[in-house]
Amino acid sequence: MSGKTRVWLGLGSNLGDSRRILQKAWQQLGSEPGVNVLTLSAPYASDPVGMESENRFLNAAGILETDLDPDALLNLLQQVEKGFGRDQKTGGDGYQDRLLDLDILYFGDHVINSGNLLVPHPHIAGRLFVLVPLVELDPEHRDPVTGHTVKAMRQELLRRMESGRVVRQQIQPEKWG
Ligand code: ADP
Ligand code: MG
Repeated sequence: MSGKTRVWLGLGSNLGDSRRILQKAWQQLGSEPGVNVLTLSAPYASDPVGMESENRFLNAAGILETDLDPDALLNLLQQVEKGFGRDQKTGGDGYQDRLLDLDILYFGDHVINSGNLLVPHPHIAGRLFVLVPLVELDPEHRDPVTGHTVKAMRQELLRRMESGRVVRQQIQPEKWG
């Protein structure tokens, strides 16, 4: 592939056989033209953040290389989400239960604000279920906007939870097997 960009992806599911859905989705991404999957983190069980749901999430992060542009990659991710039975958003704000959610966390060092794509993903710094798998993959990876490493971002979020400034988030490492 020419013009490869390294992409950090967030994967999540809180419906169905989440472990299997995330694994299969990752596998499928790897079989797509223009995409090379490199590393997938462990799965992490987490309580929903920013939404009311009884279903716990399973989350992971992955690193891939692609020569697709950001919009084409987003399109592909949305096709894969649909293939796993996720309906299009039915309107309204807020978060919903979902079989599969694929988010672009980082796209190389690109900073994108195009209306349907915000990169770096706006919620990285506030979500332990994103930061913990990112730290597992590459603790020294730097956010292109703030220059902070993901490890420092995780520490900062933990401090904010300790001091009660933000609600505590539960996260638990699991196994794929
Ligand atoms: P969320 O992931 O926030 O729970 P959705 O998966 O339903 O919500 O995504 C809603 C919209 O978010 C998508 O239509 C997409 O255009 C937009 N979006 C903006 N930035 C990103 C990003 N970095 N990765 C994935 N989707 C994004
Ligand atoms: Mg999404």
